[in-house]
Order: sequence, then structure tokens, then C-alpha cells
Amino acid sequence: MNPVIYRPDHNLSEINSLAELKDLTVRCARCALRDGCSRVVFGEGNPNARLMLIGEGPGADEDRLGRPFVGRAGQLLDKILEAISLERFAHTYIANVVKCRPPGNRAPRPEEAQACLPWLYRQIELVSPGIIVLLGNSALRNLVDPDASITPMRGQWLVSKSGIKIMPTFHPSALLRDSGKKRPVWEDFQKVRDEFLKLAES
Ligand code: SF4
Repeated sequence: MNPVIYRPDHNLSEINSLAELKDLTVRCARCALRDGCSRVVFGEGNPNARLMLIGEGPGADEDRLGRPFVGRAGQLLDKILEAISLERFAHTYIANVVKCRPPGNRAPRPEEAQACLPWLYRQIELVSPGIIVLLGNSALRNLVDPDASITPMRGQWLVSKSGIKIMPTFHPSALLRDSGKKRPVWEDFQKVRDEFLKLAES
């Protein structure tokens, strides 16, 4: 596998701040998801974070509040971060593959993800993290390999062409459905913490 975390084949390189990018993104109607959601959920966190977390898309709570990872899965993610002594607003930037809620929390369709990914590519470029954690299959398949599966790939570092270290792991919502996934996710985030500390020291 040749992981490619993003393809810079978008036309957003002239956008030089997250605020400017957000202003454009919240007015986006490039795909049909915008018709069924309340608001565009851009992403949030430390704009200079060394660690970026990427999930699938907004759920009902995120759609209502306009913020990523604020429902039960988000609360669990906060706890996971706390357990490795990280705080989401201080240490991370969080975004999703698609910025509008897919109906019924289904996975984004390929054409929806393709329409939305340029926003995420530019977010990644502007935040410029050293580490990205891909949360679940949608993030892995849309950013690394459409044929990949999270179960065999979680816990193994990938490196993008631009040198970003990438850790795929289960989405926190999967842990809510299957507590057996807690231990592997804990192990994966310990690796993330170790790498984060290395980056902080460098
Ligand atoms: S999901 Fe993305 S591409 Fe589709 S309308 Fe929302 S912001 Fe635009």
C-alpha cells in the first residue's frame, strides 16, 4: 500500500487561513448532503495542532450544534484524549471527511466524499499536523485506500508522502457498540501519545 493522505489537486491553495476556509465551506452546496442537514460542521481545535483527528461526518448532535464530536462518541473521544494527557482544544484539531450530516448517520457516498474532500485537504495543509489519527473506515478509505479496512490496519503507522504519521483506529462510536474494541483503541492512542511526545521534544 502506498498511503496518500491527500491529493493536492484542489483549487483552494489561495486560501491561507482556516477562518477564510470556514467562511467558504459553510456556504458550500457541492453535494446533496447540504439539503438534508441543518448546518455545515467545519471542524475545530488548535489551528496549530500537531495532532489532527479525522472522523466520518457529523451526527445528530453535531448537526444541531455545528461542532464535531460533541455527542456520545465525542464525549468518549474526549475521555480517550484525557487518558493520554491531551486536551482536545489545546492539543488537537478535529474534522470529518464530510462536513454535512448524512441522513440516518449512514456512511458518506463516494461522490459526497469526493465533493467534500478538497475542504479537508486544505484544512490539513493549513493545520499542518505531524500526526493524523483516522477514526474508522470512512476516514481510512477516503484518505488512504478505498479498499482498506480498519480492523486489519488499525494500530499500524502509515506515513504520507509529505511525512505526516498516520494512525488508523476504530471510530469512538464503534466502541460504544462493542466494548471489545476499547483495548485496541487504548493501545493505538498510547502509540499516538508516544509519537506526540517525540514531536513535542523535537
Ligand atoms: S458535505 Fe461537504 S461538499 Fe457536501 S454540501 Fe456539505 S460541505 Fe459541501
